[in-house]
Amino acid sequence: MGEEWRPVVGHEGDYEVSSHGRVRSLKRSESVILRRLRRPNGYLAVSLYRNGRARRIGVHRIVAEAFIPNPDDLPFVRHKNDVKYENHASNLAWGTGGDNAIDRELNTPKVPRTHCKRNHPLIEGNTYIDRGTIVCATCKKAQVAASAARKKENRIVDHRP
Ligand SMILES: [Zn+2]
Repeated sequence: MGEEWRPVVGHEGDYEVSSHGRVRSLKRSESVILRRLRRPNGYLAVSLYRNGRARRIGVHRIVAEAFIPNPDDLPFVRHKNDVKYENHASNLAWGTGGDNAIDRELNTPKVPRTHCKRNHPLIEGNTYIDRGTIVCATCKKAQVAASAARKKENRIVDHRP
C-alpha cells in the first residue's frame, strides 16, 4: 500500500503523519521528517511543538487519530501484531485497555503443536516435558549429539600444534 499523508489531529497545518507511521513538520519551506524516539516502554514517540511548547506523543496515537475512525471513543490504540514500533495504520486499532492483553493472547499460539520445528511428530514416546514446555526427544538427542561432536572437534583442534 502507498504511503498516505494526513494532518496531525490538533496540529493541522504544522505536522502531517503518514499511514506508514512517519511524521513530518511543515513549519519550514521544506517538510522535515521527525526523528522518532523509542521510549523505554517500547513505543515510538515524537515531539510536536505548538505555541512554543513541546508535547511528546506516541506515533501510534497520531497515526490512529488521523487514519482510523473511533466512533465509540475508545481510549487506547492497540497494535494488532503486538509489535509496538510497527505503526502502519493497518496494524493499529482502537480498543479498551483490556484489548492489549487479549491481543497478546491471540498472538501467542494456544493450539497445541503437533510437530516440532524440524517436523518430528510430537507424540508420546517422542516428547517429554521440561520446565513446563514440550520438548521433542529426537531434536534433543540430535542437539546433545551435536554438542558432544563439537566438544570432540574442539579437543582435536586444541591439540594441534
Ligand atoms: Zn524435533
